[in-house]
Amino acid sequence: MLDVKNLSVNYDAITAVVDLSLTVGDGECVALLGPNGAGKTSTLKAISNLVAHDGTVEFAGTPVGRTAADRLARTGLVHVPEGRRLFAELTVHENLQVGCTARGKRTPTYSVDDIYQLFPQLQALRGTRCWSLSGGEQQMVAIGRALVAAPRLLMLDEPSLGLSPRNVGVVAEALTRIKTTTSVLLVEQNTRVALEVADRLYVMAEGRVRMQGTSQEIEDRSGLLDAYLGQR
Ligand code: ATP
Repeated sequence: MLDVKNLSVNYDAITAVVDLSLTVGDGECVALLGPNGAGKTSTLKAISNLVAHDGTVEFAGTPVGRTAADRLARTGLVHVPEGRRLFAELTVHENLQVGCTARGKRTPTYSVDDIYQLFPQLQALRGTRCWSLSGGEQQMVAIGRALVAAPRLLMLDEPSLGLSPRNVGVVAEALTRIKTTTSVLLVEQNTRVALEVADRLYVMAEGRVRMQGTSQEIEDRSGLLDAYLGQR
């Protein structure tokens, strides 16, 4: 589904990502795990062509080239950025309806009603403008808006960041359901969420992949993982 080769991202003098290669198979849920500043967000932004980079990205067998992020979303590469980027003045329901416009000709697995089933607490908030939602509720709307766009690959940047422990649990549980229907590339700082949800992980530090393997393989090397992540 996704094949990234030799990706590098530089911001003037700052090197954010160095020669990174990764794959996400059809139906796979893959996590990029790493501490602050490891280069995870820059990796997702480079895949979506939101930052300049070297290296190649193939999505569903086609080189992404310089295709802009909004056009990529219409082909099924849907990115939920850190900070969520909802339309603050629109309601929950309206934000979900906006997501439907990015479907292109694909048949969606998730309707707007399915999102209210996935995140029942949004049901009572249908008519609420998004600026007044909690961070967790906003994250749910952002994930929902991406899902109704019929993603072939859903890229999520730190969906658990800043959420209450309860909402971290709600989002993690939703991800375990989503991954049964949709390929996922997940960026996380939360080790527990990443190990719980992902089939396979890449551990990044200082712009490079330092470890990779299945969740079980990474757990089995937890001493090394702790060394890369600092204290957990
Ligand atoms: P975080 O979890 O804090 O977002 P991250 O692993 O996602 O961390 P990046 O956000 O990709 O890491 O940042 C990697 C490096 O690039 C960091 O040193 C960061 O300060 C730097 N960086 C990121 N964006 C920019 C930018 N627009 N201009 C300059 N430097 C940047």
